[in-house]
Amino acid sequence: MVLTGGTMRVVVVGNGTAGQTAAGFAKKDSPESEVIVLERHPYPSYHPCALPYVVAGEIPLESVVDRVPRPGIEVITSAEVEGIDLEGKKVHFSKDGSQESLEYDALVIATGLRPTRPPISGLDLEGVRLLWDVEDAEYILKHMGERIVVVGGSATGLEVAGALAKGGKDVWLVEMMEQLMPGKVDPPVASTVAKYLRSLGVRVLLKSPVKEIRGPTGRASEVLAGDHVIEADTVIVAAGVRPNSKLAAEAGIPIGETGGIRVDDRMRAAPGVYAAGDVAEVWEYVTGRPVVTGLVSTALVQGRIAGRNAVGGGLRYRGALSPYVIHVGDRLLGGVGLSATQATRWGLEHVTGRLSTLDLERFAPGVDRVLSWLVATREGRLIGAQFWGAREVWGRVSSAALAILSGMSLQDLLTTEFAYHPLLTPVSEPLTVLADSVLRRFKMAP
Ligand SMILES: Cc1cc2nc3c(=O)[nH]c(=O)nc-3n(C[C@H](O)[C@H](O)[C@H](O)COP(=O)(O)OP(=O)(O)OC[C@H]3O[C@@H](n4cnc5c(N)ncnc54)[C@H](O)[C@@H]3O)c2cc1C
Repeated sequence: MVLTGGTMRVVVVGNGTAGQTAAGFAKKDSPESEVIVLERHPYPSYHPCALPYVVAGEIPLESVVDRVPRPGIEVITSAEVEGIDLEGKKVHFSKDGSQESLEYDALVIATGLRPTRPPISGLDLEGVRLLWDVEDAEYILKHMGERIVVVGGSATGLEVAGALAKGGKDVWLVEMMEQLMPGKVDPPVASTVAKYLRSLGVRVLLKSPVKEIRGPTGRASEVLAGDHVIEADTVIVAAGVRPNSKLAAEAGIPIGETGGIRVDDRMRAAPGVYAAGDVAEVWEYVTGRPVVTGLVSTALVQGRIAGRNAVGGGLRYRGALSPYVIHVGDRLLGGVGLSATQATRWGLEHVTGRLSTLDLERFAPGVDRVLSWLVATREGRLIGAQFWGAREVWGRVSSAALAILSGMSLQDLLTTEFAYHPLLTPVSEPLTVLADSVLRRFKMAP
């Protein structure tokens, strides 16, 4: 497909998931066009989602860094964009100490999130680090001790704590709210995950804000969390992020209430300017509320739309479903759509259901349990689902995502066929069994 007749220059800022995808789509859709990506790192890209396993020693750091850009796309590394001139259609960037400019016909801003330093004293002590990028992982690996405090019961916090505990470290996971993954995962599921982490040996501390990290010798030695004083030589902080939208704000591009760049359904932020990925403020699919998702899944979709539309296409964004899967120890936590907590916060009347079933036939090798949780409107439309189990969580989340996207009701789920195999699946897909029980409990069955 060639969308543009002539040659144009598309400049992409940031070579993460959204930037790479936008660049790839722009080039494929308009091969005559020049596509240039400016990336501030000295290497083209890396895989942030693998970093929890890198710091736990499961994956070598070098294997998650891409040192060679994908063919066909020019990636200028060590290029930090410092200004956007909307009128002159130019970006200004620094490279190797010199200032340079590049004109564009279309610009895609894909600068992601940036970690924020939580208000904790002692963050600069040796052995303390926020986990965000390759340099952080490198630092943590170099300074890794034996007694670790992970600050933040976020997805990253859960993954790091689970992986380190599996590797034999003494791990505390500290969260200031009363549950892990507050807001995103509903309490019954979150408490099951906390129980599992405890079974791995992780000391999970809830309702305990970290106030101070002490280290009289210059190296972290104690963490003050709530009323606890925890001995620790390594502190990994996985809490607090903001959209990296300062560049756009300084150029006069509208910023939304979440701090992300406001975009329309074509990912347009200003004439000739698109934003995609974690830096973009989009809308949650069910409620239309503004959100910044912080997920690869949404960054990919937005990157495709921004890249295609930058060269004249007309793809439209439908809203964020935010599907995720988290690897905790040897188990998987996944979800999509609204949690009941979010539905309540946003004033949406809803019902919930919970079901623990076998994840395979009782005779199948490796049979385990899967916890399924769903959120539906009062009328019975599926709006959210969460799963906790040993396998197939990705598939269940993805099925639920398609069901939510197509407006399916719980009754529709009952009449949907799911593939069966005696060694690979239970005879009835847990989501449909749960849908049936919710329909009966709330007397919604026809
Ligand atoms: C430890 C960790 C684990 C994660 N695990 C998962 C997971 O399992 N599943 C999941 O869905 N998501 C996960 N995420 C989130 C996921 O990585 C992001 O949602 C995704 O990378 C977003 O893509 P993006 O392109 O918007 O931003 P990014 O991937 O952050 O890319 C932004 C890029 O822009 C560059 N940049 C920023 N400013 C400038 C500038 N001024 N000039 C030039 N370049 C600039 C940055 O260097 C960066 O390369 C994880 C994140 C982390 C940190």
